[in-house]
Amino acid sequence: MTTNPISPTIPLDEDGVHHGFLRLPWSRDDSAWGSVMIPITVVRNGDGPTALLTGANHGDEYEGPVALQELAATLKAEETSGRVIIVPYFNYPAFRAGTRTSPIDKGNLNRSFPGRPDGTVTQKIADYFNTVLVPRADIVLDFHSGGKTLDFLPFAAAHILDDTMQQQACVAAMEAFNAPYSMMMREIDNVGMYDTAVEDQGKVFVTTELGGGGTATAKSIAIARKGLRNVLKHAGILEGEPETGPTIRLAMPDDDCFVFATEEGLVEPCADLGDTVAKGDCLARIWPVDRTGATPVEYRAKRGGLLAARHFPGLVKAGDCLAVIAEVVD
Ligand SMILES: [Zn+2]
Repeated sequence: MTTNPISPTIPLDEDGVHHGFLRLPWSRDDSAWGSVMIPITVVRNGDGPTALLTGANHGDEYEGPVALQELAATLKAEETSGRVIIVPYFNYPAFRAGTRTSPIDKGNLNRSFPGRPDGTVTQKIADYFNTVLVPRADIVLDFHSGGKTLDFLPFAAAHILDDTMQQQACVAAMEAFNAPYSMMMREIDNVGMYDTAVEDQGKVFVTTELGGGGTATAKSIAIARKGLRNVLKHAGILEGEPETGPTIRLAMPDDDCFVFATEEGLVEPCADLGDTVAKGDCLARIWPVDRTGATPVEYRAKRGGLLAARHFPGLVKAGDCLAVIAEVVD
């Protein structure tokens, strides 16, 4: 069996604060024996639960990276019991390029699990997490936002799982994160996702969508920062109770939540994030890009709820996700 070629430059299982890299050999034109150097911090203080924290699974999503950089720079071993593994730039080549997928192999890390030890750079990163880091973790938090092409209401999310005990544990961690919105999420394309790989190992998993558009805001970073510390408190790694405030519970129960464009064009939003919409309300109009004098195509809500996500750029292509309507759960 091939073993994964990634080696950490720091100990994963020793007490103290260790900053280093996951070194992934990458032989290429400008560096024959070169490597991809993925920054990692491990903070450990005795036995206790392990949290595995990741940002930039997609390289153009920024709240997680900022909050995790801050945690790595400030967390002291004596504040913790157990271990925190911090990887702010999970798909590091994608993060450096400012793109969703890796410029090396076009790999979408969140569609590359369980990965391959003998695969492409992205597949090797996935395999290393799947076989080395996730098995060490009790709780896993993976930060996302919409990236350059989507924008979301800020929510933490848990998935509907076959194992109801595991689902309850994930929901409790999502509630501890305490984002302004808490989403029971249905994935439209869950094969190859990190989420699925972590959940299949029986772990407690929380993910987020905290904004988007290929940037972060002071508000969205504050949500990430608070949620991160709350999850560590919930896990018993940091002392104290999670700081809680109101959250609106949402769900994406069926395919009617999603509206996809069937033509290209110029987008006119007819509702904004957080707006309440009724079934049949216009969500967006698409104007032609190649003529005047034509009428726009209207896209209407297939169900009522809150507008939870929208296409971000001003131009849209056929097949793009134009809007997501979430149901408000009492
Ligand atoms: Zn993402």
